[in-house]
Amino acid sequence: MMEKSSIEIFNQNYEEITEKIALAAEKSGRTSSDITLLAATKTVPANVINHAISSGITHIGENRVQEFLQKEPDLTKNVHKHFIGHLQTNKVKDIVGKVELIQSVDSIKLAKVIAEQSIKKGIITEVLAEVNVGLEPSKSGFMPDAVLEAVDQISEIKGISLAGLMAIPPICDNLQKNIQYFDKMYKLFVEIKDKKIYNNIKVLSMGMSDDYETAICCGSNMIRLGTALFGRRNYNI
Ligand SMILES: *Cc1c(COP(=O)(O)O)cnc(C)c1O
Repeated sequence: MMEKSSIEIFNQNYEEITEKIALAAEKSGRTSSDITLLAATKTVPANVINHAISSGITHIGENRVQEFLQKEPDLTKNVHKHFIGHLQTNKVKDIVGKVELIQSVDSIKLAKVIAEQSIKKGIITEVLAEVNVGLEPSKSGFMPDAVLEAVDQISEIKGISLAGLMAIPPICDNLQKNIQYFDKMYKLFVEIKDKKIYNNIKVLSMGMSDDYETAICCGSNMIRLGTALFGRRNYNI
C-alpha cells in the first residue's frame, strides 16, 4: 500500500477532529461555532497549509519568525494568522503587521515593543498574555499570581489590544491534574472578563493535540492543533 500523503492524513484527521470538537463543545453547553480551531503549522509546508485553509481552517499559528516569513508569501490570503511561539523583542518588527494576533506575550517589555512597532505601522495588534500555569522554570509566561497585574499593565499600552489569555500546561499523565490547570486558566479568564474594564477580552487559548477535548470541556474557546491535524512532525521546534 502506498504511504498516505500529507493531504490525505489531514483530510481524515480534520473530519474526526471536527466531530470531537462538536461533542466536547456540547458537553460544556456550547456548539462548535463557539470554538476556534487554530492549526499550529510549524514544519508544515505552505501547500498543505493552503489545502487545510481551503478545507475550512480559518486560523493558523506559526512558532518561528524565520519560518513564518519564508512561507508567508505562498499562503492563501483569506486566513487569520497568529504568532504562537516564543518571540524575541528584536524580531518583533519583522512580524507586526503580518499577523493579526500574537498569543505569546510573556513580558511587559515584549508587549511594549509590539506596541511601538504597531504604532509605527499605524495598526493595533491584538495580543494574548501567556500564562505559565504549571509554574515551570523551563517555560515562559506570566506566573498565575502575576497575571492580573500584568493584564492591567498590558491593557494600558497603546498600539496593542489585549484579547485574552494563552497557556501551554505541563504534559500530564493524569487527567485530573490536566483539568486542574485548565480550570485555573478558566477562572483567571472569567475573572478578567468579568471586570469589564478591558474591552476586548474574548480568547482563552488552551488545548493541544493530546488534550483539546478536556480543554474545551474546561472552557477553552481556542485550541491549537498541530500533530492531531497534520500527523507527527519529523522534527520538533
Ligand atoms: C506546536 C504547538 C502547538 C501544537 O502542538 P501539537 O501537540 O502538535 O498539537 C500548540 N501550541 C503551541 C504554542 C505550539 O508550539
